[in-house]
Amino acid sequence: MSSIIQLLPDHVANQIAAGEVVQRPASVVKELLENAVDAKATDIKLIIKDAGKSLVQVIDNGVGMNVTDARLCFARHATSKIRQAEDLFSLGTKGFRGEALASIAAIAHMEMKTKQDQDELGTHIIIEGSKFISQEVAVLPKGTSFAVKNLFFNIPARRNFLKSDTVEFRHVMDEFQRVALAHPNIHFTFYHNGSEMYNLPAAGYRQRIVGIMSGKTNEKLVPVNEDTEIINVQGFVCKPEFAKKNRGEQFFFVNDRFIKSGYLHHAVMAAYDGLLKDGSQPSYFLFLQVPPNTIDINIHPTKTEIKFDDEQALYAILRASIKHSLGQFNVSPVLDFDRDANLDTPYHYKDLEAEVPTIQVDGTFNPFTDDKTNQHYSKASSGGSSYSSVSSGASSGSSYSGYSKRVEPTASWESLYVGLDVENPESIESSPFTFENEEVTSSLFNDDEVEQAVQKTYQIHKKYIVSPIKSGMVIVDQQRAHQRILYEQFLLNMTVNQASSQQLLFPLDLFYSSSEMKLIEELKPSLETTGFVFDESKNDHVVISGIPVNITESEVSLVIEQLLSDLQDGIPASSYSQNDTIAKSMAKSLAVKTGSYLTEKEQDNLVNGLFACKDPNISPFQKPTFITMRVEDIDKKFAL
Ligand code: ADP
Ligand code: MG
Repeated sequence: MSSIIQLLPDHVANQIAAGEVVQRPASVVKELLENAVDAKATDIKLIIKDAGKSLVQVIDNGVGMNVTDARLCFARHATSKIRQAEDLFSLGTKGFRGEALASIAAIAHMEMKTKQDQDELGTHIIIEGSKFISQEVAVLPKGTSFAVKNLFFNIPARRNFLKSDTVEFRHVMDEFQRVALAHPNIHFTFYHNGSEMYNLPAAGYRQRIVGIMSGKTNEKLVPVNEDTEIINVQGFVCKPEFAKKNRGEQFFFVNDRFIKSGYLHHAVMAAYDGLLKDGSQPSYFLFLQVPPNTIDINIHPTKTEIKFDDEQALYAILRASIKHSLGQFNVSPVLDFDRDANLDTPYHYKDLEAEVPTIQVDGTFNPFTDDKTNQHYSKASSGGSSYSSVSSGASSGSSYSGYSKRVEPTASWESLYVGLDVENPESIESSPFTFENEEVTSSLFNDDEVEQAVQKTYQIHKKYIVSPIKSGMVIVDQQRAHQRILYEQFLLNMTVNQASSQQLLFPLDLFYSSSEMKLIEELKPSLETTGFVFDESKNDHVVISGIPVNITESEVSLVIEQLLSDLQDGIPASSYSQNDTIAKSMAKSLAVKTGSYLTEKEQDNLVNGLFACKDPNISPFQKPTFITMRVEDIDKKFAL
């Protein structure tokens, strides 16, 4: 039998290699930007169209290439960066595989213009799908420009695989940010469809970080500096109170290269131990320098993972230096006797006058008579409704009914303690820090006059509500049930389009990064149907003057942040599923959490609210909301 093995033609090999190097427009952006940095450019322009799908262009003022190199750079394994295998252990450049240009040229239309400083004239090359179309001598400025058009023009399957422009743009943005953060001494500009996204003059780390993230970032940063024999750590971590729901702004750079490392991330989190609210994530921008021969960058094709020789030592140093910074800048909690107690009072109550509790003695009180006859006893002082009417802003009702008429047991000064488990004092101790947005669900529901003669529901473990029913009992998961209730409410408001909103006395000014702003812009119409009113949104901030009735002011930023993090992977295209995503996300952030104490009335409303839902059986996230136990089942257990 004749032999069947053949060497693949170069253009086929390149196309296959391209699969590894180029997954999407953002990969091209990364490779071209890194080449420009390696070429020692001090000024780099990134220009893209349609999220990079139709054009990615990078123009630099670096060293450029002579005619021979200009031709050769498109060959596979053509690199000026290493000469022998040993060079891999002392890398000072981003690239070294010599694969990027060959791969990109195999799957796109590419145009290159390049000139070295000392040369009179430069070289202009056009190459399409690995085929050289033309090569000319041209009058050019010093440096190199690569334009990559029609990515995947010859691999329709890959092209169809690309996500929406929003998603692809986010990826491009990520790559741009990573390179721009690592090299603050380079002037970067970035244009998308003709509009300027960034113009970042050469600066230091702090200014670069602020330039890339939103304007409010500066005040959130705490510097970290540590120099040891095996590592130099520089950069910034954010103060714990600015920790976010999502992990969007966490950056490690090792020798000016963005890397991902679960291990080092863990070291950072360990430094924040005890300072963060559960599940929240601190932003960090950490620039590590280590001797090149102590790392191996070669283990991942896109080079975002690296191996360190002495991981444990790095872990310890990183954790200690961040801990030190957080302590030094006084952001760790300390006992502060001079502290103005007003600052600790939740916003709702801050400006209200304290009311002196009046003691009323009820001469007719008889502990042995029916509860109902004593109800008036708890209606302490008369004007007491003011506090609770504020807190009922958090109620899940979609109207203001009951807003001012609430004069109920938890009126007046007692309402300051709404949400605290009075019968169970250790719950107070168990949470030494209270966070603003945790004061969320102070009062969950409208107070329709509920028959209070017998307690119909019990809360167990601050997690489940147990209630007897005809056939036995029902056990409701409080968090999931509330998610279901809110989800249906939001969806109804959005689809029927009649959500009312509460006007804010002082509009909220919220700051976001430009990629987040882009998402917000796209979500605006849907958010408006839930009751948000946007006064202004430009550059890096939005001004919100109205919010849905079932949200409190302090929850707004939390809700939007959660929404942005839920939409990381792109906004669903149809407005139906867009509404659905928003309703789910808002239900998730606003629902009462496991671990919250609910008053009897809240428990009752929760159970009733759940069973008034269209689909009470499952949470919006497809988890069961309640289970039932029949008396027979219980009987059986006792029969054993
Ligand atoms: P690598 O970066 O791994 O060496 P590439 O395929 O990205 O491989 O680039 C091949 C070579 O082309 C580089 O080694 C470099 O010599 C040259 N080159 C690429 N881009 C530029 C640029 N912007 N300016 C100058 N030279 C460049
Ligand atoms: Mg390269």
